[in-house]
Amino acid sequence: MTRRIGIIGAGLGGLSAAIHLRLAGHEVTIHEANPEVGGRASRIVDQGFQFDTGPSLLNYPWVFEELFQAAGRRFGDYVDLIPVDPSVEFRWPDGEYFRLSSDMRALLAESERVDPGSRPGMTAFFADAAAKYRLSFDKLVTRNEDNPLRWIAALKPSEMWRTGIWRSLDQELRRFFPSRRIREAFGSYGMYLGGSPYELPGVFSILPYGELAYGLWLPKGGIYGLVQGIERLALELGVVIRTSSKVRCIAHTGGRVTGIELASGKILPYQVVVSNVDVPTTDRDLARQPFKAPKMTPGVLTFYWGVRGKVENIGHHTIFLPQDYKAAFDDLCTAKRIPEGLPFYVAVPSESDPNLAPAGDSAVFVLVPTPLISDLPGMDWSRTVQELRAKVLDRIGLDPSRIVVEHAWTPVEWRDRFGLFDGSAFGAAHTLPQIGPLRARNYSRKIAGLYYVGAGTTPGTGMPMVVLGGKMTAERIAARER
Ligand SMILES: Cc1cc2nc3c(=O)[nH]c(=O)nc-3n(C[C@H](O)[C@H](O)[C@H](O)COP(=O)(O)OP(=O)(O)OC[C@H]3O[C@@H](n4cnc5c(N)ncnc54)[C@H](O)[C@@H]3O)c2cc1C
Repeated sequence: MTRRIGIIGAGLGGLSAAIHLRLAGHEVTIHEANPEVGGRASRIVDQGFQFDTGPSLLNYPWVFEELFQAAGRRFGDYVDLIPVDPSVEFRWPDGEYFRLSSDMRALLAESERVDPGSRPGMTAFFADAAAKYRLSFDKLVTRNEDNPLRWIAALKPSEMWRTGIWRSLDQELRRFFPSRRIREAFGSYGMYLGGSPYELPGVFSILPYGELAYGLWLPKGGIYGLVQGIERLALELGVVIRTSSKVRCIAHTGGRVTGIELASGKILPYQVVVSNVDVPTTDRDLARQPFKAPKMTPGVLTFYWGVRGKVENIGHHTIFLPQDYKAAFDDLCTAKRIPEGLPFYVAVPSESDPNLAPAGDSAVFVLVPTPLISDLPGMDWSRTVQELRAKVLDRIGLDPSRIVVEHAWTPVEWRDRFGLFDGSAFGAAHTLPQIGPLRARNYSRKIAGLYYVGAGTTPGTGMPMVVLGGKMTAERIAARER
């Protein structure tokens, strides 16, 4: 039966849900608070430079291909992907580096250079992670299953053991890489999932694997090129998108959703409401319900620098690791302070798409992880921004006088622009008690007709995951709103 569905937020999860719901025949309107769609994946355009605000690494392109296929379209007709290979370089303060490539021969030669004797370990890691990746995506990740036992029962005991879900990511990596460099590089992906590699489940070794096996890509026009392609598809299918249309609250009576109220005071009736806003923000601020805050991923301080000329010695993606890696994770995840030995990530997407900067210049993005806003009471952000800026510039060897355009977003900015709970950049963490059926469900258990989509709910964070999540939310609605 056709429903009138209102979606709050045009992040990638909201757009994906809108597409799937429209394909199911519903009337769908998205209300987005900001003037443009994209959410965390927005853009800043300033003096000929274009910066993606959040995501910079596009992996699992098959997920986006499937989204377009569902609508009978070809992804390539909407988005042009440029391969980025070598993909990511990890650097340590002592000058050592480790450069990833999806070319297996190049990767094996590089791991042998960084860690002599590691070639068999890398080959075994690949075989093991490939099996985990297949099990995860075929049997676990995209299933709307509320019962943890039924969820995990999809795996045979040998498969269950194989996922490494009971070991930490670091323990999992130790099985293949006895020396620290490769382990530190692959374990550092844990930061985006909201925990240290010593805490996150070992199944997440599929992250570095997925990136290597399916490659890293940059859409032409930056990540925003992907957002625009998906927005175009949604509009073509008849999704109505209202930007600068902030929602004040979700209206509900007798335990059933009735619609939404805009910040302008206008009340709009909807039979079903899907919130793409962080789950705890939705429950606390929009549905005005008692809620339990989950463990969140860290915050981020992000810099957007328009730089005159080329940035020497830095490729498209570089991750700067500290000498004492464990101490940095302990600082960030346990002591809740900005690590002294600062880990950070730098992207220069204009290396792959020169149109993102004026001719000969560079668009530079820097991401520094921070604790959450509530963990830093009394924080003087303007001073901290200057201190961290100086540290980053010093380590990458960039003369600040070459920066001609500059923006910096603290966790407070991230919270206020997109409703990110406590300034958490990636949503709820992916610790064992917060994955699969244990993660916030994509429907409200208190208000019938209220659904969720995006990084805070299932399956999890990252562009591919929230796009898969859009389909899962549409499937939930099909199953529950008969
Ligand atoms: C700095 C950073 C770097 C990242 N890097 C990567 C990466 O390299 N690769 C990757 O795959 N992922 C990356 N991610 C994660 C990825 O960006 C997110 O998981 C994904 O984009 C989140 O999508 P979402 O569907 O949860 O929606 P969001 O992006 O959270 O969008 C929610 C939308 O709701 C809107 N909204 C909020 N409140 C209201 C309201 N009251 N009324 C109306 N609208 C409202 C917001 O404005 C926003 O547009 C990164 C994230 C960050 C922050």
